[in-house]
Amino acid sequence: MRHPVGILTCLLVIALLAPGTAPAAAATRVTVAAPSSVVTGTTILIRGKVPTASRRSRVAGLYEKRGSSWVRVLKRATSRTGAFRFQVGSGSRLVTRTFQVRAPRVRGAAGTSTRVVRIAVLARGYAPTTRPPAPLPVAEPYDAPAVLPASEPRPLGSATDWTWVLNEQSRWNPCAVITWAYNPSGSRYAAALADLQAAVAQLSARSGLRFRYVGTTSALGGLGRANPPGIDVVTGWTDAAHESAFRDGMSGLGGAAGYGSVHGTGIVLSSGFLLLNNGKSMAAGFASSGNPTWGQLMTHELMHALGLGHAAGSGQVMYPTAWSGNHRFGAGDLAGLAQIGSARGCWS
Ligand SMILES: [Zn+2]
Repeated sequence: MRHPVGILTCLLVIALLAPGTAPAAAATRVTVAAPSSVVTGTTILIRGKVPTASRRSRVAGLYEKRGSSWVRVLKRATSRTGAFRFQVGSGSRLVTRTFQVRAPRVRGAAGTSTRVVRIAVLARGYAPTTRPPAPLPVAEPYDAPAVLPASEPRPLGSATDWTWVLNEQSRWNPCAVITWAYNPSGSRYAAALADLQAAVAQLSARSGLRFRYVGTTSALGGLGRANPPGIDVVTGWTDAAHESAFRDGMSGLGGAAGYGSVHGTGIVLSSGFLLLNNGKSMAAGFASSGNPTWGQLMTHELMHALGLGHAAGSGQVMYPTAWSGNHRFGAGDLAGLAQIGSARGCWS
């Protein structure tokens, strides 16, 4: 039985920053800290601070997103300085859990909420690795993966800093070839297809997934649009007039859709898309430092299409913002690519 799952999409905002400048956080007195991942059967600790009026304790609630609604799972008083601390069991399911702490309005202090935190629950014994997993045999022809250098600089960040895009195991079958096509209409630059091919070849080498470019298409992927038969991932360009997300300044959009596996252990991805905003201007190709590039954006959005969500650390390609500090794959990116790739075996 196939259970259809709606397309979930993720956005990327491009910030042009001088090298070495971290993306600025909004000035706020609300803080929250939580691990980006935990293993099953352990405790998740979420702590932080909300403003208080005249050093008076106030109520804070821990909310968890379940389906499309938020459910309050815990409620307690903060300290007089507004500090809160919640502990919840991580559970036994390999999912990404989404939490937010909210403090309702009290006399002297407005109602407030923390940023949303996403925590990946990983299998006990999960050993994050930044090494590419061995590929699995596929029956069809595929394009050559990139040849990885013999040695690379140590990847930044933590190997647990990655999430699933569809809130639980959401990955392609690594024992089948993923076909993809390119729609050149509205292309911002001539070498865009070559950059896409280079990004796919990199992702193939790092994940063990196998891809085949099947040519150009007039189709455009996106929210609610079905891919043509024979094309698993559709890539192309559009503008703010045709894609509402781009009206908000987003530079790219990547997403995936799939169905529940027969064993109920996750989501088998069966279609994906990448949309680039041709109203944006950035350098072609790839870089290891400096301003964001189209290649960097393509890589990020393709990783969404392959099943990965956002990372917490600004050194990861999957950090929501492309900047001078996340051109290269971080430790979380590499571990995530292994997990959405061949490391977990075939979907049966
Ligand atoms: Zn994104």
